[in-house]
Amino acid sequence: MSLHFDNVSFTYPGAQHGIEAVTLSVTPGELLAVMGRSGSGKSTILRLTAGLLDGYRGRIAIDGRDVAGVPVWRREVGMVFQQYALFPHLNVLDNVAYGLRMRGIDAAKRRARALDMLERVGLAEHAGRRTTLLSGGQQQRVALARALAFEPKVLLLDEPLAALDAGIRQQLRDEIRTLQRACGATTLLVTHDQDEALSLADRVAVVDGGRVLQVDTPERLYEQPVSTQVARFVGHSSVMPGRVIANGTVDVSFALLSADTHVFRPGDQVEVLLRPEHVQPDPPANAVNRLAGRRAEVRYFGATCRYDFVPDSSQKPLLCEGRRLAEHAIAIDPEHLRVLPASASQFC
Ligand code: ADP
Ligand code: MG
Repeated sequence: MSLHFDNVSFTYPGAQHGIEAVTLSVTPGELLAVMGRSGSGKSTILRLTAGLLDGYRGRIAIDGRDVAGVPVWRREVGMVFQQYALFPHLNVLDNVAYGLRMRGIDAAKRRARALDMLERVGLAEHAGRRTTLLSGGQQQRVALARALAFEPKVLLLDEPLAALDAGIRQQLRDEIRTLQRACGATTLLVTHDQDEALSLADRVAVVDGGRVLQVDTPERLYEQPVSTQVARFVGHSSVMPGRVIANGTVDVSFALLSADTHVFRPGDQVEVLLRPEHVQPDPPANAVNRLAGRRAEVRYFGATCRYDFVPDSSQKPLLCEGRRLAEHAIAIDPEHLRVLPASASQFC
């Protein structure tokens, strides 16, 4: 089943916040992550899909059909929230079977289906237990089994791992992926955690201020962000403000850098993006984009080091990464510099 948002805007009554002109498509069986910081409009997108909010502009379609006016219970969406939201008066099995009961499935069938789902999330032996006796990770597995048991058209996950400890979060992240693939559920996953978004999703929508900035595969978001604003959400980078002075050359105030500028014209204000792992330490004297300077702060991460390198005639350090540290100079292959339009507002 597919999910489409076509130019959807929504403002909370009496407030100025919500989402603005959101266009998104989730293809059948795809897992699309909606990533952005707190208050960026992620949950609003989910609530609109579920039918929990009224009065939006634009078009929302599930499986090609406009869902305007279709109530929550008829949209056939499965939902999992950060807080497990299980029914405390029902045991594990009855929680999972709940959606099936609502749909009038007979007792034997719903028991078999619920047990099958519990088997898949590794909790079959807990079927008769009270949910309050389960750990956070187990409760979230039950919530996932419950959301998928009635084979929803769309699965909506709102920061499902945010309340869990780091170890269990990692494990459940993999389990969600496996289960989602096995069930083939079209899924919208909301998260503020970039590791979660990049490792789980087929594609990621980066949202900020209620707007979608870019929808792309994790690889393309990282390698080809459309703006430095997006780049800041995905991995580490240094951003150098500059001006194109000739085709293939950018003046970044402390150096002239060779880079691909073909979409710009001389005189254009730009920002040059550098990923830390693309820095070559202590290159030969004739290397292109060679910057002499000095190494500053070093952060050790075992498999790699992240360190600052301050080019001569610049106060601002560039972030570098690698096992070998630069002493006196770095070089950057022009292919690895990404020249982007200067952003209207600078923020970190
Ligand atoms: P996120 O899930 O990305 O943290 P939300 O979608 O919940 O963000 O919220 C988007 C914006 O709408 C925020 O500015 C938030 O403060 C505002 N908002 C959310 N819920 C309500 C509400 N019920 N009434 C008024 N404003 C709200
Ligand atoms: Mg939210």
